[in-house]
Amino acid sequence: MAEKELKKIFDSESACTLVSELRKTFNTGKTKSYEWRVSQLKNLQKLIEEHEKEIIEALQTDLAKPEAEIHVGEIGMLKSSLKTALNELRNWMMPEKVKTSMTTFPSSAEILPEPLGVTLVISAWNYPILLSIDPMIGAIAAGNAVVLKPSEVAPASSSFLAKYLGEYMDSSAIRVVEGAIPETTALLEQKWDKIFYTGNGRIGRIVMGAAAKHLTPVALELGGKCPVIVDSVINLQVATRRIIGGKWAFNNGQACVSADYIITTKEFAPKLIDSLKHEIETCFGTNPIESKDISRIINSNHFDRLSKLLDDEKVSGKIVCGGQRDKSCLRIAPTILLDVPEDSLIMNEEIFGPLLPILTVDKIEDSFDIVTSKEKPLAAYLFTNKNKLKDEFVRTISAGGTVINDISLHLAVHTLPFGGVGESGTGSYHGKFSFDAFSHKKAVLYRSFTGDASVRYPPYSNGKVRM
Ligand code: NAD
Repeated sequence: MAEKELKKIFDSESACTLVSELRKTFNTGKTKSYEWRVSQLKNLQKLIEEHEKEIIEALQTDLAKPEAEIHVGEIGMLKSSLKTALNELRNWMMPEKVKTSMTTFPSSAEILPEPLGVTLVISAWNYPILLSIDPMIGAIAAGNAVVLKPSEVAPASSSFLAKYLGEYMDSSAIRVVEGAIPETTALLEQKWDKIFYTGNGRIGRIVMGAAAKHLTPVALELGGKCPVIVDSVINLQVATRRIIGGKWAFNNGQACVSADYIITTKEFAPKLIDSLKHEIETCFGTNPIESKDISRIINSNHFDRLSKLLDDEKVSGKIVCGGQRDKSCLRIAPTILLDVPEDSLIMNEEIFGPLLPILTVDKIEDSFDIVTSKEKPLAAYLFTNKNKLKDEFVRTISAGGTVINDISLHLAVHTLPFGGVGESGTGSYHGKFSFDAFSHKKAVLYRSFTGDASVRYPPYSNGKVRM
């Protein structure tokens, strides 16, 4: 019998058993103690430190990610999240004293963060290690049991997570379930206390629908078309390099906060394109498709999806840089398209790859109408030195997050919440926001037996309770 057939199928029954085992552990109170939380966070730290080599191997197998990017974008981010959580955990767990009102006098009150219970993290393929472990840090710090379902689209990373989380973590409260739609569906049928999902909005709707049946709260970390508005009053070389850093050097555009499209003025576009071409060559050489400093496309389905965007007849003749692709090695060069029509495919879905359309407007202020006519993005970017434009941008554009004069870097600031709004998601995490995402803020009011006002009690005669 083939090995696959011997492996027990993970179905609804297995999912039900898993959740009840974890709930049993949670109900003992084990995961609530400060010591347990710290020990599990330290185990994560140890796992990452002791298996950097395997993490790199997995990510190179799945995405051919350059090692430097892995160190910054996955390992470095996780180390920093763990350090913050371990340093701050005691403060985060402390009840917050709050004022009370005359109605309850004498009394005192506090807000006590308590763990939600048994939680589910479903993660995506593009940063498969980071997007799996980072939400788990929040779940564990907040004192929950947690099941991770990594993305089957990044199989080497999924196996890594199953193997090593299984070895390092307390299996009575922390588990990994590998698999695709059937396994995720079986998990989603169960009653969870929180579901934290990262991925596209179509599946986000499935997750939210399944959660609604049990009134389970969800965090949906989704995507969207992140605009980059480029004014002419900028340091062109710095802006260009940051756009390249946030687009191609960041997983070859396969990132939720990647630059999806640029808007600039008709007058400035030729200068910007020349600068982008020049810097792309500086970063990736004359034949970027062969560069080892750029990730490949995750699989042939995504390669075909991106090819379809380029083959759309509405964008024919619009490529001004790149365009080379090679399906045999799943590589697509950094590609820039100028003045694509608004109704082209590329302007109507999240690109999530190395293609970058540039739209042009007469005045830079006109770019706001283009952005606000679309669904709210996960991030919106503006390059300018004009303070008035910065203010208008921040006040006018609704997005999960905004960055002025850079791309994506807000996600590295732990004091900022990271999450979407509208179509780009609901809920946020990073730093204390991760702890909050997996905690219930419980209201606690302390009263003594003094100060019992008779006006509270019937009979309500003689205008006793007139305010
Ligand atoms: P994906 O294909 O890995 O899917 C995400 C998860 O959904 C996987 O674990 C998968 O098994 C599960 N899934 C797939 N089909 C399902 C179904 N029918 N029922 C239940 N579960 C199912 O990832 P993806 O969706 O291609 O990821 C890319 C998207 O994620 C983009 O839109 C991107 O912007 C977004 N994203 C957002 C963030 C963020 O932090 N906001 C981060 C990364 C990616």
